[in-house]
Amino acid sequence: MVTPHHPHIALISVHGDPAVDIGKEEAGGQNVYVRHVGEALAGLGWQVDLFTRRTSDDQASIVLHTPRCRTIRLAAGPARFIPRDRIFDYLPTFVEAFLLFQHTQGVTYDLVHTNYWLSSWVGMELKKRQPQLCQVHTYHSLGAVKYQTMEIVPAIAEIRLVVEKTCMEAADRIVATSPQEREHMRSLVSSNGKIDVIPCGTDTGRFGSVDQITARQKLGIDLETQIVLYIGRFDRRKGIETLVRAIGKSKHRQGGKLRLVIGGGSRPGHSDGIERQRIEDIVADLDMKQMTLFSGRISDEELPLHYAAADITVVPSHYEPFGLVAIESMASGTPVVASDVGGLQFTIQPHVTGLLAPPQNAIEFAWAIDQILDDPVWRAKMGQAARQRVEAYFSWRGVAEQLSSLYKLLLKLKFADDDNSEDIQPDDRKASVA
Ligand code: UDP
Repeated sequence: MVTPHHPHIALISVHGDPAVDIGKEEAGGQNVYVRHVGEALAGLGWQVDLFTRRTSDDQASIVLHTPRCRTIRLAAGPARFIPRDRIFDYLPTFVEAFLLFQHTQGVTYDLVHTNYWLSSWVGMELKKRQPQLCQVHTYHSLGAVKYQTMEIVPAIAEIRLVVEKTCMEAADRIVATSPQEREHMRSLVSSNGKIDVIPCGTDTGRFGSVDQITARQKLGIDLETQIVLYIGRFDRRKGIETLVRAIGKSKHRQGGKLRLVIGGGSRPGHSDGIERQRIEDIVADLDMKQMTLFSGRISDEELPLHYAAADITVVPSHYEPFGLVAIESMASGTPVVASDVGGLQFTIQPHVTGLLAPPQNAIEFAWAIDQILDDPVWRAKMGQAARQRVEAYFSWRGVAEQLSSLYKLLLKLKFADDDNSEDIQPDDRKASVA
């Protein structure tokens, strides 16, 4: 057996296209993760292809991100947006399209890193066809956790839970993005399977590149205004209602300088429009229209300005396996008030980089927000500590280095019977991380 010198790896993200605009419909943290991990791994010398499902005839089938990293969109099912709970039936076609792509390009991937349970199924099917293939899996969200808080579970729940357990036990390695996620995997999914904790990351160059005064000048916001920011998708699980009700109760509301900025979401008519309308109705009921701005999707270029301009970012999710928004805000020097759940307990150090509050508890959220707004000196100190924590633990480069070591170890184990196994290294002619 000949060991490859420059291994090709594939990141598979069937429903989360790494090349699309983030923040609308279902595009969120997973898309960002796959794109940045892919680019950073390419920067370390790997040849990285990111596979996703094509959702429009207008889309390019291949998008080049860096010389060694590209997104490949495979035809599997209708070329339109399909909610993730209805994609399972198209996965066999996705597997065939993947195999055909390998065949026509003359490439064989040594390792697939699958993302979300749908892609885990694809990875497991590929392993049946190519027993040498290594599979690493990141869940991004666990059905076993998600369904605990849902009154009516979707029809796909039964299949999802089985696939999640099978993958946990069959993959070469599972990547949990926080110790909290690993605990949930152990207690709710399976006691078998190998798990490594490797967090998500963020761009420490882009976030934190601008200070609060400059950001406010650029956005046309005066320095007296108190800004509480939400960034993310419109999804009930995100808990935007809790934040709106908390702002409604904030004592700073009386001062007339408090503003709530809700960033993210697409226009009415899209799949996230129902939740957006529900939130807008609550804002109207609480007589908060004047003080609330729905800014819509915020572009990559503008995001660092919004985080830097804010006094506090709030992440009020019912559950969050990691929560990229929290570390983006922290990297920007803005403390975070977040739900005391999941990965947010890992990224946020209470009273040091922000505050945690019980999920869905508007009174506790209001109290936490008020504490920080009351004390601008403490706020600034927490912002600095938050930035330092991200620099130390959550850069994409650091994350990619940990993943790269894991991939090399797994490939080495796979090819252990080969004398050339030492050669399994990504190309050391490093391409730059975009
Ligand atoms: N995001 C964005 N523009 C928006 C709203 C969100 O770029 O208008 C990005 C945000 O910066 C973050 C991601 O979407 O990188 C959301 O990730 P997170 O892990 O917080 O939540 P998820 O979407 O995975 O539930």
